[in-house]
Amino acid sequence: LEEQFRQAQKMEAVGLLASGVAHDFNNLLTVINGYSEMLLAGMMTGKSLGDAYAAIRDAGERAAGLTNQLLAFSRQSVLQPRVFDPNEIVAETGKMLTRLIGEDVRMTTTLDPMAGRVKVDPGQFGQVLMNLAVNARDAMPTGGRLTIETHRVVLDADGLMNRPDVHPGAYVMTAVSDTGSGMSDAVKARIFEPFFTTKGVGKGTGLGLAMVFGIIKQSGGHVEVYSELGIGTTVKVFLPAVEVRGEGTVAETVRIPGGEE
Ligand code: ADP
Repeated sequence: LEEQFRQAQKMEAVGLLASGVAHDFNNLLTVINGYSEMLLAGMMTGKSLGDAYAAIRDAGERAAGLTNQLLAFSRQSVLQPRVFDPNEIVAETGKMLTRLIGEDVRMTTTLDPMAGRVKVDPGQFGQVLMNLAVNARDAMPTGGRLTIETHRVVLDADGLMNRPDVHPGAYVMTAVSDTGSGMSDAVKARIFEPFFTTKGVGKGTGLGLAMVFGIIKQSGGHVEVYSELGIGTTVKVFLPAVEVRGEGTVAETVRIPGGEE
């Protein structure tokens, strides 16, 4: 399953990434070219000489990190959406997530047995849980509590007045909450951008939530983020509930935009 997690990647996320990569790469090249020009012009002396070399090296390392991430994406395996109960994946990944978050973070799961089933590549759903758990862990460097909850949620047209992108209907909601740092509105506004990270060079890639967004969106769902500085963050992923009647019979399948049925 862990191998499946590494393999599980997303087409829409790749699409989202393309623009981000070009932009970020260009910025890094600008840094490298700028410092190279100044070095060649003999404008750098003393301490600034060392700073220039370091800036070039850092930009080069970051660029290499970007290409590695992209290569990981392009090695993706074929997606195999199937109908499953998210509670099962939460239970299956529990041990691994506990290991991932470390000893200082306690994990609680509150699973609604009637939450329902969804149709997604299960490896990708696991990837979503993993990315959200990593972010929760990073937001709680001195420890805290991570909570994973599932619920069945029915969204009606009235409640969705200002969400034209969301279809009314039954959803299975999976929420990952932490008691960590929370984020400012300025950070919150950018978290789904590929390569947006506040974690610093070598620590964050800024791809975690872009992938979550891509995976959930492509499966006909949506993502909501609630965060308060100093209090914590809750990320809710909504996936359309698939009604299953009888033994493995899908009575009402979800339409997945851009996906094959
Ligand atoms: P990365 O984890 O590599 O930085 P992500 O796309 O997963 O990339 O997250 C982007 C940014 O969103 C993070 O750098 C962080 O600033 C913010 N963020 C995401 N999840 C949380 C969280 N649970 N608590 C606080 N900030 C968060």
